[in-house]
Amino acid sequence: MNKKLRYFLSYSIYLLLVTILFSCHSHRFFKKNQEFHIASVNNNVCKKLQRKTVLYAVFVDSKYTGYWTEFDMSSTLDSVKKASKWIESQARDNGIGLDIVVDYHENDKGIIPIEKSLAKKRFGATLLGPSGIKNVDRWADKIAYYALQKYGPDTSKKTLNKIRPKDRERLIARLRDKHETENVGIIYFINSYYTDEVSAALHIGSDFDPEYAVVSYKNPSVIAHEYLHLFGAVDLYMSPFDNKKKQQKKKAFAMEKFPNEIMAFTHRRIETLEIGNISKYLIGWNDSLSRADQNILVGKKLKLVKY
Ligand SMILES: [Zn+2]
Repeated sequence: MNKKLRYFLSYSIYLLLVTILFSCHSHRFFKKNQEFHIASVNNNVCKKLQRKTVLYAVFVDSKYTGYWTEFDMSSTLDSVKKASKWIESQARDNGIGLDIVVDYHENDKGIIPIEKSLAKKRFGATLLGPSGIKNVDRWADKIAYYALQKYGPDTSKKTLNKIRPKDRERLIARLRDKHETENVGIIYFINSYYTDEVSAALHIGSDFDPEYAVVSYKNPSVIAHEYLHLFGAVDLYMSPFDNKKKQQKKKAFAMEKFPNEIMAFTHRRIETLEIGNISKYLIGWNDSLSRADQNILVGKKLKLVKY
């Protein structure tokens, strides 16, 4: 297959995936009087991207996705730090106080990966395969179980689900206690040597399953993009799955109106990007959204709530 075509296909798959996850999970609304509340805003574990938040990185090894070297992990952590510094500086420019604490899985000797294979070997194939999200959740839970081992017996108080917490929830509870903040975003990093592997954020609009992201690129803008998803931002680029004319028009309009928006143009250098009005509203930096921007996001019929 020629290089250009392969790039196009891989990029389409990337777009496709993120779109599927969003159409499934985050375009739900809660009715509040006559106004609508987008399910991803002020909801789940990652509520508002303000004050102190945690970005917890776990590096995952497997025969099929690749193994991490110490050098790879530390250079990826540099990208994570660059992404978080960039988000913090965007917050500062908007008068928002934000401190993103970067934490990661390590032992006494320092940072270490956790080994766990995916059901369909590769991440994209697993996610798109039968019971895709369930299989990825199981994989993520097992890794969280291993990551939890270093903390010893469970004494945390802030578990999301009191009945039978999953390992991801238990890990989040531990990290909440450790860092004394509610807002904990977990990102699993796979060291993919495939150029067509994907990145995605899951359970963004859920109210019972904690959100998390899986990242296969070491690019700071992809890391920042996925972290913003965890806090409610949605994709603003046009994908092959925006197959309705109305939706295509909205996305085209968003890309024109926000030419440097990180949720629309992910694969650029992070210095050239910014967080636009729609994303600011979704992550809790603005409490309302202009009518024109609401039209782009949800159309003319719905009125979005002021937080
Ligand atoms: Zn995205």
